Amino acid sequence: MMVSEAIKLSVTLRNTRALVLFNTKSKSYRVVDCSRRSFCRIYISKNCPPYCEIIVAVKDFALKRRKPKAEVVEL
Ligand SMILES: [Zn+2]
Repeated sequence: MMVSEAIKLSVTLRNTRALVLFNTKSKSYRVVDCSRRSFCRIYISKNCPPYCEIIVAVKDFALKRRKPKAEVVEL
């Protein structure tokens, strides 16, 4: 993924905070940091799964699907 085309998003959901890069063209994402990384087992996949609440919120925000359940801020 080309990082230059990605937007950098700060996501806060309850007591989880994450920093995610999202490419609006390819709809691909990369989780840079997440305080719940052990829950998503990032140490295995190096990324959050698509059903992760953080990723769902990022897509809702970036693709303007609906109001995200998390607080999403573009950095
Ligand atoms: Zn996750």
